[in-house]
Amino acid sequence: MHGLMQEWPLVCHKIIDHAARQHPNREVVSRSVEGPIVRTTYAGVRDNARKIAQLLAREGFQPGDRIATLAWNTGRHLEAWFGIMGMGGVYHTLNPRLFPEQIAWIMNHASDRAIFTDLTFMPLVEKLVPSVESLRKVIVMTDAAHMPETALPNVVSYEEWLDEADGDFEWADVGEDAACGMCYTSGTTGDPKGVLYSHRSNVLHAMMAAMPDAMGVGSKDVILPVVPMFHANAWGLGQTCPMIGAKMVMPGGKMDGESIYELLDTEKVTFTAAVPTVWLMLLQYLEQNDKKLPYLKKVVIGGAACPRAITEKFEKNYGVEVIHAWGMTEMSPLGSLCTMKPQHAGKTGDALLDIKQKQGTAPFGVEMIVTDDDGKELPWDGKTFGRLKVRGPAVASSYYGGDGAEQFDEDGWFDTGDVAHIDPDGYMQITDRSKDVIKSGGEWISSIELENLAVGHRDLAEAAVIGLPHEKWGERPLLVVVAREGCAPSRDDILAFMDGKIAKWWMPDDVAFVDEIPHTATGKIKKTALREQFAHYRFPG
Ligand code: AMP
Repeated sequence: MHGLMQEWPLVCHKIIDHAARQHPNREVVSRSVEGPIVRTTYAGVRDNARKIAQLLAREGFQPGDRIATLAWNTGRHLEAWFGIMGMGGVYHTLNPRLFPEQIAWIMNHASDRAIFTDLTFMPLVEKLVPSVESLRKVIVMTDAAHMPETALPNVVSYEEWLDEADGDFEWADVGEDAACGMCYTSGTTGDPKGVLYSHRSNVLHAMMAAMPDAMGVGSKDVILPVVPMFHANAWGLGQTCPMIGAKMVMPGGKMDGESIYELLDTEKVTFTAAVPTVWLMLLQYLEQNDKKLPYLKKVVIGGAACPRAITEKFEKNYGVEVIHAWGMTEMSPLGSLCTMKPQHAGKTGDALLDIKQKQGTAPFGVEMIVTDDDGKELPWDGKTFGRLKVRGPAVASSYYGGDGAEQFDEDGWFDTGDVAHIDPDGYMQITDRSKDVIKSGGEWISSIELENLAVGHRDLAEAAVIGLPHEKWGERPLLVVVAREGCAPSRDDILAFMDGKIAKWWMPDDVAFVDEIPHTATGKIKKTALREQFAHYRFPG
């Protein structure tokens, strides 16, 4: 028997229509690529999105076409997303921090047909265009006055192009299961793989993200997504903010401590989100300039494990609640958020920080298990770690073009490639990437736990742990560190600091000092490069 309720497809243009109706004057503020702070509203975003959809359709782009964006977080980028989706197209975010050859590879794999770009990336686009045959048009997100000289064909300035449309356009009639967005994984191992979001998965993910025990945001919030739209959809905030009518503050290309502080302060931001490195820069700026954060209430930190010191500083020194979160491009991207349950009421100090080190619980819409290598489910005891697997309506069911099929099993579980344990309260903690876990004497050592501990040493700026071959134990941990400027900690001093805080057999066999630790385009430690760098290293003795 069918329910007798209306068919109301979960499509993304309903989000921007809702925002324009219910919150027409709520602002979207951007640090423009040209320099000044510029302002629009949700009504303005919807109007420009309509024009974009109209122009794309008029120029022969078809539903399902992949339209790339190579852009910072700005109001224009948001308009481009909704315009592309509203025409039935698929916005395809490109990460400018990848090598040009990698970007070209990704664009060819996706067969991108047009590209929206910021001025910043014009030199890059000039390199890319000749090697991407499917590309027919370049839209430079600026006005006529700022248009650069270029020899490329079919290039228009965004503002002039929009003037050609009146916005009298009906959104494309696409079903909720139609593709609307695309993002490639960073490809730290093997080629990047394409994740193809649907309207339905984006809408459900946006609702999930806003829930009180997830990000817990609403129309009164002023939200600054520092996390780029090209990194896993700015963690869904491009859809969540208009859905709830929050004011958006977009940082453009400037993500240094001073620029972010300026926006937090002048726009009275209440909620923000980014990877730990951004917060390290901000905290340093605040400390050096004796600044406070009177308006900020919550900060979501994810993309990499959040060091305890960051959580502690935000909460103790600035009164800002930290929500540690975990997710992946393949999950739209939110997988878990570390907010407290009733049983934690009254917890403070170290007891609270201990929980906040965990990546948190799965919101409704994410199912999570840990299994051993044979697929047998492991207990939720907070210590038995294994492969972390997930499923849900905003989790990929396969990669574009059928790559990486081995990560999806017949019961619908997606193997995240992360290693984790889950405690009896449902709090998951990542202990490693499955490729990075150190297998010593048949037992596993968590490289992340060692890294988190080591960076607590006052003289260390960054730490990474890799497993290297060992005759007796198979593999043993090597701690690679970068000292803080002006500090010269010794090997013994660092190991003594770690002693007693971990099992004896987890202690790194040696400490290597480097000037810099290699990072991926999304800011994660590049363990593959580090392992190559230390391929000829031998442990003492
Ligand atoms: P990406 O798809 O680029 O967002 O990368 C996803 C991967 O980043 C995950 O599979 C994890 O390995 C890692 N990651 C994300 N958030 C966290 C976190 N809070 N703690 C530890 N690792 C994380």
